Amino acid sequence: MKIHEYQAKELLKAYDIPIQDGVTIEDLSQAEAAVDQVSKELGAEQYVIKAQVHAGGRGKGGGVKFSTSRESALENIQNILGMTLVTHQTGAEGRLVKKVTVAEALDIKQEFYAAITLDRSRGQDVFMVSSEGGMEIEEVAKTSPEKIIKVAIVPGFGLRPFQARNLARALGLEGAAAKQAISMFQKLYELYRELDCSIVEINPLIVTEQGNLVALDAKMNFDDNALYLHANVAEMRDLDEEDPAEVEAGKYNLNYIKLDGTVGCMVNGAGLAMSTMDIIMQVGGSPANFLDVGGGANVETVKNGFRIILSDENVKAVLINIFGGIVRCDRIANGIIEAVKELDLSVPVVVRLEGTNADVAKGILANSDVAIISANSFEDAAQKVVEAAKS
Ligand code: GDP
Ligand code: MN
Repeated sequence: MKIHEYQAKELLKAYDIPIQDGVTIEDLSQAEAAVDQVSKELGAEQYVIKAQVHAGGRGKGGGVKFSTSRESALENIQNILGMTLVTHQTGAEGRLVKKVTVAEALDIKQEFYAAITLDRSRGQDVFMVSSEGGMEIEEVAKTSPEKIIKVAIVPGFGLRPFQARNLARALGLEGAAAKQAISMFQKLYELYRELDCSIVEINPLIVTEQGNLVALDAKMNFDDNALYLHANVAEMRDLDEEDPAEVEAGKYNLNYIKLDGTVGCMVNGAGLAMSTMDIIMQVGGSPANFLDVGGGANVETVKNGFRIILSDENVKAVLINIFGGIVRCDRIANGIIEAVKELDLSVPVVVRLEGTNADVAKGILANSDVAIISANSFEDAAQKVVEAAKS
């Protein structure tokens, strides 16, 4: 799960990590009060207006504006709130900006990069820093990866003090600033561990003209499987930022990911889902989605799966590819018939059922009065559905 910058900063604050603070609003009517509050409570005379969307690169896309006066702050809020922000992470369609933060402007002396994530190949968390922080970090990673310094963390030990010192030194920090950095890095790793983050990224981490280390931006992702442990984080979820069909699928414990092809796929098991997508590609088609109905597929899951697949108007044909291991194919067949009748399908449906009671299932489908194309093998199914999608 992702959260907004302003929410990530609330968490940093709770861990005593200095942030660029501000006030977040959803409506233009709150603009004046927000600017005045930032001015009064944070003593700001200049402001940075920041679009809140679940995508990076806001600055380059015009979603972060420096404002030297109250008037220009108000003007920038008006421009950013409600804009469709396009960044390298949003895709061409962009993101509607529904929330805006009025932040205090800080005087930047230096911009660093700091991040923690899991390095799966090492099986360890990795703490990364770079003196080349700011908006070009992807470019740095590509062209001069040696400028990103990494420290691997031994599970159970946490970020050791010497490691935090090495990270601070790698940024060229000394004296008071180094002390601040060491303390901040340790708190940052504590936060990452305790809240079951999958990514924490501060870019830029700045040194102000006054010599203070401050998180100017913050990005956090969380492990969905651990969210039940962290009610305060779970309630930060913003469904407006997620794909509606994926949200809907999540309600029924279906794993759905939208893709851009024309063949809707309903499959049980992630491995079968992947090989189904592969074989569709192999016979010249393209999958419209990845939908894993899971091990306990029943009439309800099949129905919900259908509804979700069909909500995508690119879908020209549907392939149901179910292996009956724990689930019985005859039950699935009945579920399919019920769903097809209820949903009044407008696209052809190809069904391949294999495993427990597959023969019974074939009989049920053959004797039903719904128009289902039955397939005999994996390849047969793929060919039939790709053909159906084309015609
Ligand atoms: P991102 O583009 O989505 O990563 O958004 P950021 O929050 O990182 O802001 C983009 C850039 O705006 C930063 O890299 C800074 O260079 C600049 N910026 C943001 N806040 C301030 C500020 O308070 N003072 C100054 N001088 N620049 C800022
Ligand atoms: Mn940033």
